[in-house]
Amino acid sequence: MRQVDHFIAGGAGGGSGRTHKVWNPSTGEVQAEVALGDAALLDRAIETAKKVQPGWAMTNPQRRARVMFRFKELIEANMQELAELLASEHGKVVDDAKGDVQRGLEVIEYACGIPQVLKGEYTLGAGPGIDVYSMRQPIGIGAGITPFNFPAMIPMWMFGMAIAAGNAFILKPSERDPSVPVRLAELFLEAGAPEGLLQVVHGDKEMVDAILDHPDIAGVSFVGSSDIAHYVYKRGVENGKRVQAMGGAKNHGIVMPDADLDQVVNDLAGAAFGSAGERCMALPVVVPVGEETAERLKEKLIPAINALRVGVSTDPDAHYGPVVTPEHKARIEQWIDTAEQEGAEIVIDGRGFSLQGHEKGFFVGPTLIDRVTPQMKSYQEEIFGPVLQIVRAADFEEAVRLPSEHQYGNGVAIFTRNGHAAREFASRVNVGMVGVNVPIPVPVSYHSFGGWKRSAFGDTNQYGTEGLKFWTKVKTVTQRWPDGGGDGSNAFLIPTMG
Ligand code: NAD
Repeated sequence: MRQVDHFIAGGAGGGSGRTHKVWNPSTGEVQAEVALGDAALLDRAIETAKKVQPGWAMTNPQRRARVMFRFKELIEANMQELAELLASEHGKVVDDAKGDVQRGLEVIEYACGIPQVLKGEYTLGAGPGIDVYSMRQPIGIGAGITPFNFPAMIPMWMFGMAIAAGNAFILKPSERDPSVPVRLAELFLEAGAPEGLLQVVHGDKEMVDAILDHPDIAGVSFVGSSDIAHYVYKRGVENGKRVQAMGGAKNHGIVMPDADLDQVVNDLAGAAFGSAGERCMALPVVVPVGEETAERLKEKLIPAINALRVGVSTDPDAHYGPVVTPEHKARIEQWIDTAEQEGAEIVIDGRGFSLQGHEKGFFVGPTLIDRVTPQMKSYQEEIFGPVLQIVRAADFEEAVRLPSEHQYGNGVAIFTRNGHAAREFASRVNVGMVGVNVPIPVPVSYHSFGGWKRSAFGDTNQYGTEGLKFWTKVKTVTQRWPDGGGDGSNAFLIPTMG
């Protein structure tokens, strides 16, 4: 059986005995075992990071950027291999896996501009003979704890910014698809990074707790489900770290009566079912405004959803592949049961789906559920599967209220031809990322990513200038260079600039 090891100090870390199985969701077979680390292993990684980080922080930003450039080229050269490995452990189709790598790569591209974005601020003559300048210095050692659903993109969101800013980084990827993060660390080393700058420690709660409690880790970035995000946030902050912790989502797509419904149906097919719905920016709730819009939309959605092709991750014609584990398949099917028991109408039922020739794979058929109401548990919670729920809104006000009052506030989209309605919606809705006729509004790498409410704890977003803020601290120097000896001022008073 293939073993997935930690990546410490530029090489394999050696397991502590405990392991976790890594599935191939398309075949339903266990394809590897990943080592699960503990506090002692983390200590080793930290010792290495402490040795390498000060030198890296002193390496001029242009040289740091060169490593990022080479890393970018290596990822591009290895794109196919990375995507296939990713697809085989996650289950998403290979083209989608390429998108996963590509969106992370865009953050690396942004990080290549680190000399420009780290320039700092300067005030000449803030007082008589006094100049003030501020700089952003790395926090030291940062850690990232990442979810299974984007095993390439989310690690790169984090370590791309953290390392370019001068930090050492310890990545704790999801134990469900751990191989691509290790490949990324190997490629980073090949790109010229010093050994131990980017290390990968695998593990479960034990390793997460060790990270949160370690006094030498200054900042922790987490992405995963909300209860764990909240736990990570509280424990990390209690230990004096800065923490950003992104959580779950339940994104709504508002469909106004004037929307181009053919376009909406096409967008929803991708946004609700792509990657088997295992995206935090998926659109699992559609909100048609008015009964007439709801009926027209439903009529068009049914054939489009029935035409979706579910396949193994290597099937080039498949729209989406299996979900990540047998437990997750069972959980999604339970949510469909719950929706039915709550009185919603199961229009297309994906339960019990079996793919011919791959009967053991973790497939869930596309599911459409109508007559869902805000009181239903299946609406309030994240399902994270290929399930689209229709919640009918009477008017625009109700359509603004639904996502605004939901516990999650990651993304939302409005489909309309009316610029005023779109503008009004975007400014009033209580959600962090808004799409106008854009179903999955993941911001480009030079903006930044972050939801509101229970979709994110902490106050800085991922990547872009927000990411840079998270991974650096500001130092401000106020300096005076008197000509000659002393200037007679009283050194015991707080100096004023006037
Ligand atoms: P998860 O919360 O199960 O796992 C995330 C990380 O936490 C993993 O590294 C895992 O090993 C660790 N972990 C698991 N159980 C833990 C525990 N009890 N204590 C401490 N750490 C623990 O999430 P997942 O299932 O891997 O990913 C899917 C979730 O992530 C969904 O809720 C999805 O919405 C969310 N997500 C959010 C964003 C965002 O940016 N808001 C992006 C992607 C995914």
